[in-house]
Amino acid sequence: MERIYDSRFWIYDSAVSLADNLDAIQQRIRAACGRAGRAAASVTLVAVAKTQPAEVVNELAALGQVLFGENKIQEARAKIPLCSGKLRWHFIGHLQSNKCRDAVELFEMIESVDSLALAQEINKRAEAAAKRMPILLEVNVAGEASKFGYQPERLLAELEQLNALPRLEVHGLMAIPPFTPVPEKARPYFQKLRELKARAESVLGAPLPHLSMGMSGDFEVAIEEGATIVRVGAALFGERKAKIEAPIS
Ligand SMILES: *Cc1c(COP(=O)(O)O)cnc(C)c1O
Repeated sequence: MERIYDSRFWIYDSAVSLADNLDAIQQRIRAACGRAGRAAASVTLVAVAKTQPAEVVNELAALGQVLFGENKIQEARAKIPLCSGKLRWHFIGHLQSNKCRDAVELFEMIESVDSLALAQEINKRAEAAAKRMPILLEVNVAGEASKFGYQPERLLAELEQLNALPRLEVHGLMAIPPFTPVPEKARPYFQKLRELKARAESVLGAPLPHLSMGMSGDFEVAIEEGATIVRVGAALFGERKAKIEAPIS
């Protein structure tokens, strides 16, 4: 079932202070980098704006946040033109082949490539748009039937074909581990993704710069395990509330 996110269908917590939340997250990112002996600049925060209206995105942009994530093409196509033109966008959701043209037009990186067929379609659309497209390969790190993403062995088997697509730049791996309220429980999955990146690098004979892992509940653990991109929504914008039945008119 395709869920359509429309900001009119959601209720927001108006008490949320974006400035306080952004500050707190940046501090926690710096602290996690410190614990891991990493430079703070080695981690990039993607503000996951799904379900948030353009006004809220622009408010966060005014506080200095530049990089945003969306997981639905339809929502992104409506929202991005209403947002500050200086922003950069990552696509982080499941991409259907008939939406690749929009994805190439709207996003500077597609983090969720999970098959060779999809990569080939993005390559074709990037060619038509005379663009190069940075991508990450999404991995189903826990083998969950309900999730998208490459099975690790298949990713390694297809990696050279993926890397040979002339318009694509494979920049690394992305994963969404199983949800757990205990951040520590996500650590083995982050380690698994880091190990898979090392294997992918030896297949390619070249370094892959990015590991996109860690969300509101577990981004600090992800940073300790090598994340270079963390994707944070709820901890910045407030919890996404349950959807109501109809828009308020
Ligand atoms: C929603 C989403 C996030 C952010 O999740 P939060 O728990 O709100 O921080 C990160 N990555 C993906 C792929 C998402 O869909």
